[in-house]
Amino acid sequence: MSVQEETFLTPVVPLDFTYNYYIGQYLTRYFKGFKEKKILGSRCPGCSKVAVPPRKYCGVCNKVMEEMVELPQEGTLENFTVGHVTMEKGGRLSPAEKPYVLGLIKLDDKASLLLHKVEGVDPSQVKAGMKVKAVWKDQVEGDYWDLDHFEPA
Ligand SMILES: [Zn+2]
Repeated sequence: MSVQEETFLTPVVPLDFTYNYYIGQYLTRYFKGFKEKKILGSRCPGCSKVAVPPRKYCGVCNKVMEEMVELPQEGTLENFTVGHVTMEKGGRLSPAEKPYVLGLIKLDDKASLLLHKVEGVDPSQVKAGMKVKAVWKDQVEGDYWDLDHFEPA
């Protein structure tokens, strides 16, 4: 048998398992803020920049950020992309039911950009610079899904 006749197998192994990990004290505080429908960030004592979601070290000057600040519920859509593929449980990719928008949202001039879904506007009509506001689930539980999406303000 020559090399050209060899058959190669390409196994597909779906990663379909659940696991838990500790998100750390900063994201814990971020999600506790969600219980009150607040968007929190951590402010740097050196350069005054605000990380959203909060994190311990400033990405600009590397100082420890201990001060938590509340961000406005409205901001500016700085940039966005239109998605056409979704990831299902287990990591499988499939075509989305309809195109959707993922935006980078600036809630404050000093704040980092928050990545989130933007709904309530046709993807073909989305423009960078438009004002958007946070939309929360009716029943918040202090987890990632409480802040459901942003929509035009
Ligand atoms: Zn800093």
